[in-house]
Amino acid sequence: MNHLTDTQLQGLADGTLRGPEGLAAREHCDSCGECGAELSLYSALAGKLSALRDPDPPADFTATVLAAVQVREAQLATRRHTLLAALPACALALVAIVGWGLSAQVDKLIDSFTALRTVVGVAGPVFAAMRLPLGVGAFFFLALVLTALSRTLRPVHARAAES
Ligand SMILES: [Zn+2]
Repeated sequence: MNHLTDTQLQGLADGTLRGPEGLAAREHCDSCGECGAELSLYSALAGKLSALRDPDPPADFTATVLAAVQVREAQLATRRHTLLAALPACALALVAIVGWGLSAQVDKLIDSFTALRTVVGVAGPVFAAMRLPLGVGAFFFLALVLTALSRTLRPVHARAAES
């Protein structure tokens, strides 16, 4: 019989080589000094390998994972807040468009009433006077929306500063 291959010797050493083949290999090792020496080497190696343990995870493993999760949650929260912040911005844009259209209507009204001024002399100045309150109202609404916007965004900035 030929000498055993490395695969056969390893199989004998770790116990995966069984049956008649394993028996024959074992018998060869008993009678052949060369293969017997190799087998004892592989057996010693197999014993050392099975004695190895998986390395312990780093001590701060849990903390690191939790920190990563928190960063991810903060990013999701930022995205949610951005969406929320977009709502007042959309409302602002809508009001601006409506206000602009309304302002144009008032201009037209003033024009037509200016034409009627000869008949109703008071109406023109009244509508002209309405333009100032309208502008002031639009300004206050803008300030209100901007305040709401900054309040919506503030928690995100605070959280970003913490981490
Ligand atoms: Zn041999």
